[in-house]
Amino acid sequence: MDDPRRRVPATHELLGDPRLVEARRRLGAAVVKAAVRAAQETCRRGDLATRDVADAAVAALPRASSSLRKVLNATGVLVHTNLGRAPLSTAATQALTEAAGATDVELDLSTGRRAGRGRGALAALAAAVPDAEAVHVVNNGAAALALVTAALAGGREVVVARGELVEIGDGFRIPELLESAGARLREVGTTNRVSREDYAAAIGPSTGFLLKVHPSNFVVSGFTSAVRVEALATLPALVVADIGSGLLAPHLRLPDEPDAASALRAGADVVTASGDKLLGGPQCGLLLGSAELVHRARRHPLARALRVDKLTFAALEATLCGPVPPVLAALGADPDALLGRCRSIAAALAHAGVAARAERSLAVVGGGGAPGVELASAAVCLPAGLADRLRIGDPPVLGRVEHGQLLLDVAAVDPADDEELARAVVAAARAVANGPQTPPPGRTAAPSSGRA
Ligand SMILES: *Cc1c(COP(=O)(O)O)cnc(C)c1O
Repeated sequence: MDDPRRRVPATHELLGDPRLVEARRRLGAAVVKAAVRAAQETCRRGDLATRDVADAAVAALPRASSSLRKVLNATGVLVHTNLGRAPLSTAATQALTEAAGATDVELDLSTGRRAGRGRGALAALAAAVPDAEAVHVVNNGAAALALVTAALAGGREVVVARGELVEIGDGFRIPELLESAGARLREVGTTNRVSREDYAAAIGPSTGFLLKVHPSNFVVSGFTSAVRVEALATLPALVVADIGSGLLAPHLRLPDEPDAASALRAGADVVTASGDKLLGGPQCGLLLGSAELVHRARRHPLARALRVDKLTFAALEATLCGPVPPVLAALGADPDALLGRCRSIAAALAHAGVAARAERSLAVVGGGGAPGVELASAAVCLPAGLADRLRIGDPPVLGRVEHGQLLLDVAAVDPADDEELARAVVAAARAVANGPQTPPPGRTAAPSSGRA
C-alpha cells in the first residue's frame, strides 16, 4: 500500500517555489512556513492534491505584514473614526517614511548634542498659532485633557457644565476621564442651561480650573444656554477649553466650530484638541496656551507615558508646513467640481455596462467635529445590492445606503483614486451579476456613522 504521506511535497521543495521565495523576502520566513505547513497538512489528510500544495500555500499568504488595508472612503464622512480619521497628505506620508529609520528627533546634528524632542513639529505648531505662548503634543485629544487635568487639577476640582459632560465615543466619557486623571468633578448648571453665575458660585479654594468642552458630536437646540470662553475668562480661575476638532484658526465653512486661536484670544489659559480631526494630521493631542501651564503639563510624570513617537512628529510637522491636507482640501471643495468627478465616474461605469447616475449629495465632517453641518457634495448612485460586494472588494469601498440606494460620495475620496473607485464598482457589479453572492466575511451591516 502506498503511504499517502509520501505524496506530500517536502518543505524545502515548496520553499524553493519562486513565489514563496519572493514571499519570504516580503512577509518573513515564519509566515511563509506556516502557510506551507498548513497546505502540507491538508494534503496529508487527503483534502489537497500533491500538485496543488504550492498553489494552496501561495493562496493562503496574507497580502502584507500588516492586516490594515487601504479603503476608499465614499461614505461622505470626511473624518470617519472607523476608517482612521484624517487621511494624511502625501507630504506627511513621505515624512513618516523618512523618519521611520534612525532620525534626528532628539539630536542636533550641527552640534552633535541632545536637542528638544520633536522641536521641528512643535515650532511649526507654535508658528501656526501665534496666540499660544507655548505648545506641547501628546498621544491624542483625550491624553491632552488627561495631562492638563493631572497637572493643573490633580486632587482638586474641575468645574464643568452638566451639558458638556460628553461621551467621546466607544463608551469613553469626559467626566470619567477627568476623574481617572485625579480630579473631582464639580458639575454646574443643568443639561440644557448653565450661566456664568453657576460657574462663579462653584469657584473655591479647591478649584483646579473651569473646563469648557465643545460638544463636538451632537447638537442641543431649543431652550439652551452655554457660557462662552470670554465670559469664563472674567472669573477668578484658570480656564481650559477642550475644542476637540483641532481647527487652529476660524474656518469659513464652519462658523460655529471653535478654533484654538479664537479660544486663546477669548482668554482660555490652555486649549486642548485632537490632531487627526479637522487639523488633518496624524493621531495626536495638542496643548496650547500659557507658557507656565504648558510647562507644568510637559514636566508632569504622566507626560512621559503620553508622549508621541518620531512618526507622529514627522507627520504633524509635514501637515502643518506642507500642502493643504486632504480633510481641509475636502472642506473647501467646489460642489460643481465634485459633481463633475461623479459624472466622469458614472460615464466610465456606463462604458463598462454598469448603470450609474451622478447626483448632488450632502457630506458631513464626522469624527467629532462640526455636528449638524452639511457640506454640499456629490455622489455616484448605484443599486444598494452592491454595498456588501464593494466592502469586501479590492480595494474595499465604503459608501452609504440612503433611500434604498447606494451612494458613493466623493467628498472624502482622493481624486487620484477615482479610476480605482470606478474599477472596484465594475468588479463588484460583475461579481454580483455572476451569481450567488458568497457571504461577506465579518459583519454585513453598514458601518457606523463615524462619529467620534
Ligand atoms: C474627539 C474629542 C476628544 C477626544 O480626542 P481623541 O483625539 O479622540 O482622544 C475630546 N474632546 C472633544 C471635545 C472631542 O471632540
